[in-house]
Amino acid sequence: MGLHFSTIAYQTYVLPVLSFLAQFKKPNEKALEAEDKAIRMLVPGPGQWCLKEDFYRLQQCWGQHRSFPSLTDLSLAARTRLYKFENFMRGGLGVKSKFRALQNVIRDHDSIGRWPEWFSWFNGGIIADVFSCEEELRTLELSIPSLIEAAAPPVEEGDERRTHKLRRRNFQRTVRRAIFSTHKYNEVERMRHKLGRWCLGDFPGVTSSRCIKALRSLRGLVPPRVSAAVLRTMWNGWCTGRRFQKYDTCCFRCGSFFQEDSIEHYGRCPIVVGFARTKLRIRPNVWNLSYITTLGLAESACTNEDLTVRALWIYAAYRAHNLLRYKPLSAAEDPADILLQFSKEGSLGHEGAMRTLDTIWSNSSLPQRADYSNYFNDSDEDIWD
Ligand SMILES: [Zn+2]
Repeated sequence: MGLHFSTIAYQTYVLPVLSFLAQFKKPNEKALEAEDKAIRMLVPGPGQWCLKEDFYRLQQCWGQHRSFPSLTDLSLAARTRLYKFENFMRGGLGVKSKFRALQNVIRDHDSIGRWPEWFSWFNGGIIADVFSCEEELRTLELSIPSLIEAAAPPVEEGDERRTHKLRRRNFQRTVRRAIFSTHKYNEVERMRHKLGRWCLGDFPGVTSSRCIKALRSLRGLVPPRVSAAVLRTMWNGWCTGRRFQKYDTCCFRCGSFFQEDSIEHYGRCPIVVGFARTKLRIRPNVWNLSYITTLGLAESACTNEDLTVRALWIYAAYRAHNLLRYKPLSAAEDPADILLQFSKEGSLGHEGAMRTLDTIWSNSSLPQRADYSNYFNDSDEDIWD
């Protein structure tokens, strides 16, 4: 299951259970650990290839179609809705008065010995957790009245009931968005940090900004599976031998002297690069690692057609690598056929991507010829036609 469907599965099957409980209780350490574990199980990969904070921003920052919701934010928004809107027509749940009453009982009780024993229960009960939402929002410089205002337009004369219904319906979503916007997260710095691993010798700030923009463009240019593969490649998320500190040979069996199972090699592998050149017409003047790790954006900006074709190439290489890792290439199989099949599957169901793939050889905006004199080819030159 890919990144996109994993996100949908998480939101459909995992989150409803957690979010029901999160209406009453702040998530404790165990709940946050379970959240982390669930995301890691749904999106497996090498250690730290993508952090929990990144998974929360897949849609907003990284060009994917959905993000994993944050349990902490979800709980705070749900508790705020419960606190403010539950049983509203009958005066609400009276959380504030119940909390004060409980505090008075605790303070005036004779058995003071119970206080240290039941401290966590007194301060972490349902009433205390729901009541704490107001204070938690205040620390984020958010206020409930302004959030209610933001949830729906101002009340019109004689239309209070409709406005109330609208606010109630939008309130939790509005609070979640407001909480999300308060978190500090610098996407350019994050991308720059991740791309730093490739040592591309470019202008890192420029490349990072281009990559972020390209990922956002790809959302409309290719299916979600392709943009997910591009992000995983940029962030060194392939399960290669090198990523696990092992030496394995190239899974495409290119026979190169410098072959190894690593993204660094696949970005230069004669079979993978040869496929890009002969079948997908990706023909830059100079081949280097940046074409697989940054869609070539470390070299220069490119058109949407170029982005689409390069993304399909990366998807094909990623899928083929995943397949050949478990089912090694047999003597009768041609790796170029596998790559071609996966590039077609990558575009399947997306009209624009399929059209771009079908018109590669008739599209005059794509390069006609290229100079490969600087390409470091460690194999024989027969692959170049
Ligand atoms: Zn190879």
